[in-house]
Amino acid sequence: MKKKLILLGPPGAGKGTVGSRLSVIWGLPLISSGDLLREHLKRGTEAGSNAGKYMEKGELVPDEIVIKMIEEKLTGPLCREGFIIDGFPRTIVQAEMLDTIVDDAGETKVIYLKAGDDFLVERLSLRRVCGGCGKIYHLVNLPPLKEGICDFCGRALIQRDDDKEEIIRRRLDVYRRMTAPLIEYYRSKNILHMVSGEGKLEDTVSEIKKIAKW
Ligand code: ADP
Ligand code: ZN
Repeated sequence: MKKKLILLGPPGAGKGTVGSRLSVIWGLPLISSGDLLREHLKRGTEAGSNAGKYMEKGELVPDEIVIKMIEEKLTGPLCREGFIIDGFPRTIVQAEMLDTIVDDAGETKVIYLKAGDDFLVERLSLRRVCGGCGKIYHLVNLPPLKEGICDFCGRALIQRDDDKEEIIRRRLDVYRRMTAPLIEYYRSKNILHMVSGEGKLEDTVSEIKKIAKW
């Protein structure tokens, strides 16, 4: 059965960390719109350089840029058995597009990772990511074995430019306005499940496994 999981929630709720754990457990690809955009930015593609100016301000990248990137992935061979998406959809337009991109096979579940603003600001300020492989760390709760160095690939950890307090607040604001309406969108389809994003990673992961029953 095709398994399709959408991770919804504010920036810093843990979509990327939880998603990469579930991706290993279920053997499903994790498709992260933020990672895809940062990859394009690094490679200097046209889409990437267009997206960059929105990302550095904490604004949403225009729908058509993101939709094209995601559609390419989701309809490719990698996602034949299903997928986990993190960071997409982020607007109602994107959600409606997603409904038309993805076939009806199997099951779709949406997990909403819930967390409060102060918690999110603190967690994002303490987040570091590997500049090489993208693995996510938290200086207090999920520190690397060796300070400043990725456990997996040995490259340096960096703080994302948009993980500075002022930009974090902007991202939260954009989230409330543009993305939070998706909660109702998926609730009315009866596929929304709410899970706390403030707990321990392992607890969050096992709760999602229980909900999905995959
Ligand atoms: P977070 O969820 O922690 O905010 P992401 O890596 O998902 O981080 O996103 C980083 C930035 O990339 C966003 O602030 C936004 O500019 C852009 N972005 C990512 N996904 C989308 C999307 N689906 N639609 C529009 N912009 C997006
Ligand atoms: Zn790494």
